[in-house]
Amino acid sequence: MVGRRRTNGQAGRRRSVAGSKRRVKIADMSLTRGARRNRILFGLSVAVLPAFVATGLSMPSAAAAPVDQSVSASSVIGTEGLDPLLELAYTMAEREAHAQGVPMSITSGHRSREEQQALWEDGLRTYGSPDETRKWVLPPEESTHVSGRAVDVGPLEGAAWLTANGNRWGLCQTFNNEYWHFELQTLPGTPCPPQVPDAAHR
Ligand SMILES: [Zn+2]
Repeated sequence: MVGRRRTNGQAGRRRSVAGSKRRVKIADMSLTRGARRNRILFGLSVAVLPAFVATGLSMPSAAAAPVDQSVSASSVIGTEGLDPLLELAYTMAEREAHAQGVPMSITSGHRSREEQQALWEDGLRTYGSPDETRKWVLPPEESTHVSGRAVDVGPLEGAAWLTANGNRWGLCQTFNNEYWHFELQTLPGTPCPPQVPDAAHR
């Protein structure tokens, strides 16, 4: 009887040890999820550095701001198909806008060639000539919406906020006649380049 009780006791201890191992494993899994998110952000910061070097621009300390801030791996609505850096920059900007109580969302992000072609043909009917149409909409082979490098933002209040603050993440209003159209055009934390009058001038 004594021997059996000892056996039961050992089994109990084994169960207890197995239980703590399971708990450790669960803790490891949650650490892994956090580490994966950090790797995504680190990967993006690694991706952005060669881009700055390739453009011959020096890297100010403020440029590190977007990747230093903590963002979750999920992006805001409308960023599907965008260039990953634009997706990250816009996601951070929209979250900051919302934190300040400013309404802001993407009204048009990435477009397929077919969608852009339909917009171009609509434009031709509306404006009459390719030259006039190009001030408002570009053909698919030239549109930065097709290449995933542009977002249109609304409402006006949100677009105005992004015009004033977007350079913190490298986002700039590109065309003087389109208050809603933004692209990554500068190093985060540095001034935006002057706007061009319209899309025909780029
Ligand atoms: Zn646009």
